[in-house]
Amino acid sequence: MTTATARHDTARAWTELLRWVPTGSLVGGAWTEAGSGRSIDVLDPATEERIATVPDGTVDDALAAVDAASGSLEAWSRTSPRHRGEVLRRAFVLMTERAEDIARLMTLENGKALPDARGEAAYAAEFFRWYSEEAVRNVGEVMTAPSGANRILVTRRPIGVALLITPWNFPAAMLTRKIGPALAAGCTVVCKPASETPLTALAIGRILEEAGVPPGVVNIVPSRRSGELARALLADERVRKLSFTGSTEVGRTLLAQAADTVVSCSMELGGNAPFVVFADADLDAAVEGAMVAKMRNGGEACTAANRFYVETPVAERFSEMLAARMGALRMGRGLDEGVQLGPLVNAPSRDKVRELVDDVRAEGASAIVGGEDPQGTGYFYPATVLAGVPPKSSLLRTEIFGPVAPVVSFSDEDEAVAMANDTEYGLASYVYTGDLGRGLRVAEAIETGMVGLNRGLVSDPAAPFGGVKQSGLGREGGHDGMLEYLEQKYIATSW
Ligand code: NAP
Repeated sequence: MTTATARHDTARAWTELLRWVPTGSLVGGAWTEAGSGRSIDVLDPATEERIATVPDGTVDDALAAVDAASGSLEAWSRTSPRHRGEVLRRAFVLMTERAEDIARLMTLENGKALPDARGEAAYAAEFFRWYSEEAVRNVGEVMTAPSGANRILVTRRPIGVALLITPWNFPAAMLTRKIGPALAAGCTVVCKPASETPLTALAIGRILEEAGVPPGVVNIVPSRRSGELARALLADERVRKLSFTGSTEVGRTLLAQAADTVVSCSMELGGNAPFVVFADADLDAAVEGAMVAKMRNGGEACTAANRFYVETPVAERFSEMLAARMGALRMGRGLDEGVQLGPLVNAPSRDKVRELVDDVRAEGASAIVGGEDPQGTGYFYPATVLAGVPPKSSLLRTEIFGPVAPVVSFSDEDEAVAMANDTEYGLASYVYTGDLGRGLRVAEAIETGMVGLNRGLVSDPAAPFGGVKQSGLGREGGHDGMLEYLEQKYIATSW
């Protein structure tokens, strides 16, 4: 496809979506369009063309959103759990009806291939369904004190106004994974989506409005002044919760800021997932799992397999098989049928991946497939498998966030575990083996919050998602996800 045709298609796809996707911020139930103030240009990473403009929210806009969230908190928290569950259920139904539109919107502003976007749209809607069911399960405890003198009653109350900051890589799912449990718990929210992908967040805002969420309960303020905004909001004593998904670097800054007002923090941060393959594994299954763990979202996932450790007898064979699969992927504009790998989200992301590959080649690694930077329009980088990567290479300590698979061989189980744990991160890991005992032993020894055992995908709305070490604090999804938005109240009584 020529660049001119691609641009025409981008414009047409956007015009169709513009009928219902808002391009303003949502504060207190009112949509504010980009006016004379600063604005954010949203680009299609495949064509580098502007598809829309949204307002670049100011600190005052964000504080107005806190006013709205704070003003609606009492009424929303007093609605019945069943009512909140039914609103979320309607949001699930509406999002499912609009799934194809949401998928196309994500592809437009993020670049990901349509199959990935469709998968995310369905996954994101599931968080509304799951928390529509969890809303009615806010259970407490009653026990007799050990002395027998009194009773201990524990109830769980909504924590209050929550600030939700989300990244661009899963613009729908990272937001619904926070809004779902927050609303179920009875909290109200101020959302700050990533500047690359504000449109998906605004579309979700529209869906929630249609589902019956009252004005002020969900507020969405796109802004490029994230640092300024977050500092001001965390200094506002009405904000009692911060849920952040993004890089470890920004997470550390936010944790320090949240300390001043002792704000409760949930942090979903960066990852550096090891993918360990033992010689007794079913290699076909391991390669299949590797394709999912590495290539879902074009490698732009916090759970993406970042380092492949393969037992020496099968390392070469595994690398060849993986290279054959990765090399066969069709790269192109994500909206085009048949495309499996879209562009990276922006020029800095593409440049970072290119530099990482160039640097590790200078250290002696070689590309079995890929590694060639395609010239031309769009932030493309091909699927790449690297062999002969030195075990101490800095690449293995860096979150690649792109379609690059470095392979390193190991000689025994202890070495595999030591290599897997040689990182400050601890989000996800993957283990392939034909020996269940070994699989469970290694899964326990690897320092990550989640392990895929003979499976390349860990994400599930019903499971506790989160990391250890510097990959995060707290869990999203499952029953635990709602606990992040509730705080305990203990009542000592006798009767
Ligand atoms: P990022 O640069 O940390 O940005 C994430 C969000 O934080 C964006 O909304 C961004 O706004 C905002 N932000 C940036 N600087 C800020 C500051 N000083 N104060 C407050 N907010 C700030 O991360 P990203 O590049 O968008 O996303 C990729 C990262 O997210 C990767 O490290 C990935 O592993 C991680 N991630 C983790 C999970 C998980 O569940 N653990 C899931 C997905 C992604 P702007 O866009 O306006 O800069």
